[in-house]
Formats: sequence, structure tokens, C-alpha cells
Amino acid sequence: MSKALVIFSGGQDSTTCLYWAKQRFDDVFALTFDYGQRHNIELKSAEKIAQLAGIKQEVLNLGPIFKGLSPLTDLSRDVEKYDDVSALPSGLADTFVPGRNILFLTLAANRAYVLGCDSLVIGVAQQDYGGYPDCREDFITKMESAMASGLDSDLKILAPLMHMTKENTVTLAQSLPGCMEALAFSTTCYNGAPPCGSCNSCLLRAKGFAQAGVSDPLLERLGQVAAEVG
Ligand code: ZN
Repeated sequence: MSKALVIFSGGQDSTTCLYWAKQRFDDVFALTFDYGQRHNIELKSAEKIAQLAGIKQEVLNLGPIFKGLSPLTDLSRDVEKYDDVSALPSGLADTFVPGRNILFLTLAANRAYVLGCDSLVIGVAQQDYGGYPDCREDFITKMESAMASGLDSDLKILAPLMHMTKENTVTLAQSLPGCMEALAFSTTCYNGAPPCGSCNSCLLRAKGFAQAGVSDPLLERLGQVAAEVG
């Protein structure tokens, strides 16, 4: 029986990975990290989506382990806002949380081992990700190799979005049963909810849906809620 553990934040990419894994594995688990992130509303998104998907979820509370530097973990700093996607700076974005994916994969390796999973799934991608070095294929390949050595197992790290653009990711989500409905509850915005529309993450999400020619189910749902309240 094939089993996968998905590192699951409740955002667009990890939600797509969760449904991708659901199609490919006999059994899927979700692992979510609470690290004092600014956008901690994503923890509620993760819980809701795991329920919708019918997937067993574990939340690990890491406390303020990544404090400092990134506005995602230093609430005294503001998240940069931009007029549009063309205004996003190149190079490493200031939202980078150093060591985050190194630690996430390390902790996930323990849970995968305990649960008897053969694969870890993570929603990283090389393009459109603020230049984060821990989202690159080179890092993932080396982590997989380090884990094989440290665990004496052949645990695989699968990154199905690695070479995809945001547009490709939306198209993939459309092909996965239930995924678009789940994306209506995902959180991508670095400022939490409702989405600010002008942070790095909101702009890239909007670009992907626009290029795929699909309306974002999250914005549709929020529009409906607003209409019902109004
Ligand atoms: Zn935003």
C-alpha cells in the first residue's frame, strides 16, 4: 500500500499537492506547521481543507522558532505591497524565512518514517517564488539524499509543482476532482484574510488564475459572502 505525507500549509500550492497526492496514493496524511506565522489564518484553512479532502491531519506547534528578519515571523515589520506583478523586485524576497523548508522536511521525515510513508510531498517550485533557495530542485535533491543517509530508507521527496508556473498550477488544480472547491478556502495572502491583493503572494496567485483564464474560487466565495452579508 502506497502512503504519502503532504507538507500542508493550507495555501494554494500545498492544497493542489494534497489533491494530487490523493489521486496517486492509497493513503495520504497532511502535516501542518504552526510557527507563529503572520498569516496564521492559514492554519484554519488547512484544517478546513483537510476535512473537505477527508485526509488525516496533524498540526505541529513549533512556537516562535523562526523569529526575526522576515515580516512573516516579525510582526513589527510590514509586508511589502506592490501596484502590480510587474513591480515585484527580482532576487530574494524579504519574506524569505531562513531554514524553514530545511526544518519542515526534517520534521516531516520523522513523521513519514513513523507513519510508514514512502513519499513526502511538498509544494515548492523554482519559478515565481521570490527567489527562495529552499524552493529549488537542487535543495530538494540534496535533502532527499541526506534523508536516505540519515534514515537508512528510500523515502522520496516529491515536488510536483517544481517546474510549473502559477498558470500551470491552476490548470493542474482544475484537473484534480474537488481541488477547485477546496481552493475556495485556501489562504495565500501574507497578510492573512481577506486577501490584500497587493502582496507578493496575492499578485502571483492572481497572475496564475488570470493567465489560466479561470476565476479564483476564493475570491468568488468571498464575493458571495459579501453579497449575502450586504
Ligand atoms: Zn496579500
